[in-house]
Amino acid sequence: MVSKTRALDSKARNKRVIDGYKKTIEDYTNDTEKKERREHCLCKYCKYVSSKIGGASMTTKPCDCCGKKLYFESTYTDDLCIDCAKEYGHCKRCSQKMD
Ligand SMILES: [Zn+2]
Ligand SMILES: [Zn+2]
Repeated sequence: MVSKTRALDSKARNKRVIDGYKKTIEDYTNDTEKKERREHCLCKYCKYVSSKIGGASMTTKPCDCCGKKLYFESTYTDDLCIDCAKEYGHCKRCSQKMD
């Protein structure tokens, strides 16, 4: 016998997850925080999609471009320091071109 309560709970939870994804895709599509995103040198994917993922623990790694040591509060690290990202017009997180 399948628990009705559990089935309903799961359905509600799954819907919330899907709604969350929908919102993510909407934000991604509409670029809702474009100004802030560009100030932080993040491409649309890293700003709206991948920022939802990643565990919490201190991580350090060098900038791929100039080798400067970078510090992160999660396991999700940036490829470039903000200076290199700004100078070359690439996303600091994943290195893709900004637009
Ligand atoms: Zn750099
Ligand atoms: Zn990116």
